[in-house]
Amino acid sequence: MRRAWIKRRASAAMVAEWFAHPICLCGCGGPLARIKNPRRQHFFLQGHDARLKSLLRKVLNGEVPREQIPAAARANLAKLKFVQASAEFKRAFANPGQRQRRTTARETSL
Ligand SMILES: [Zn+2]
Repeated sequence: MRRAWIKRRASAAMVAEWFAHPICLCGCGGPLARIKNPRRQHFFLQGHDARLKSLLRKVLNGEVPREQIPAAARANLAKLKFVQASAEFKRAFANPGQRQRRTTARETSL
């Protein structure tokens, strides 16, 4: 529980930092115009949301490791409507430690 709390605090700090210097969440690093109202802040350069979507699809297909998902996108995950709207996209962000692969591997080696 304590670890989860630390993690949450770290990601809140990351979000705050991102809002101070917003960059495109697709990973291109392109600077975004800073908007005072956080609710109206843009997350992508025009059309770049499609780039993140295609990256997430590649992660889901196993073509790209999920570590390739930009940290800024991960930090702002809760605010990305298209991710929240899709169980599949949310799965791309899931913590790899929570996957079952490790336990099943151990079972098969026994
Ligand atoms: Zn971009």
